[in-house]
Amino acid sequence: MTDSNLHTHGKYSDGLGELEEFVKKAISYKMSSLGFSTHSPVPFLNEWSMKKSNIQNYLSDVQSLKKKYYNKLNIYLGMELDYIENIDIKEYIGFDKLPLDYYIGAVHYIYLSKEDDYKCVDDDYMTFKDILINEFNNDMVAMYTKYFETYREMVKKYKPPILAHLDLIKKNNRGNRFFREDEVEYVKQIHETLIEVKQSDAVLEINTGGMARGYTNEPYPSLWILKECKKLGIKITISADAHQPDMVNYNFKLAYNHAKKAGYEYFYQFNGQNFIKKPLTVR
Ligand SMILES: [Zn+2]
Ligand SMILES: [Zn+2]
Repeated sequence: MTDSNLHTHGKYSDGLGELEEFVKKAISYKMSSLGFSTHSPVPFLNEWSMKKSNIQNYLSDVQSLKKKYYNKLNIYLGMELDYIENIDIKEYIGFDKLPLDYYIGAVHYIYLSKEDDYKCVDDDYMTFKDILINEFNNDMVAMYTKYFETYREMVKKYKPPILAHLDLIKKNNRGNRFFREDEVEYVKQIHETLIEVKQSDAVLEINTGGMARGYTNEPYPSLWILKECKKLGIKITISADAHQPDMVNYNFKLAYNHAKKAGYEYFYQFNGQNFIKKPLTVR
């Protein structure tokens, strides 16, 4: 069983380093494949998405790496596609014409009708707290409900082949600072979301990116959620959400064990066209 990671950022969005540095690390770690999934552009200012004017450079950069390293590593061209309520991102970036091998559906922003504005839930502790207090009157249930409603909309409307960090909303919740994952409303939101995931037949990520950056103690999704995924027969893959080259397979061993603890015996790896079922062998 060799590692494969489809969730990789680099200099085109908020990752650190040339894409080639990620390729070199993946080869040195004896990985079988690496997919680039830079953040899709969005029609408002932020610090971490790719600029629309950079799309062509990104595509040709990955395509030339594919050629240069064709006999050393399988390289795939992808994108982490933001779902943003009321904005057609696919239309905005001409998505249907992009020569992508795959894409990952993700929610980082929630829409606030009161202000007709968007707030990012993938930020630091202070920003998260600020949104909770100022936009949701300190009502955490309302805030995570909004997040999961948006996630379900993303699953339904995009039907993406891969789904990113399902419970990203827990990013700043270490020590249950904002909510408990066993509270009734949270469990209800998770269940409704997993039913949508199952119906879409998408492959769900076990994502170690929150751990890599020191936010969470376990991957997305939490173990109890992954156990529910197993019961429902949801397919899984392992992703690093790497933002720097040495993290292209960050803590995959823990992620494989996370899957095993949840009862999984198989996971899925992408071969450029399809997701292939692989046994989770002990490492
Ligand atoms: Zn993401
Ligand atoms: Zn990402």
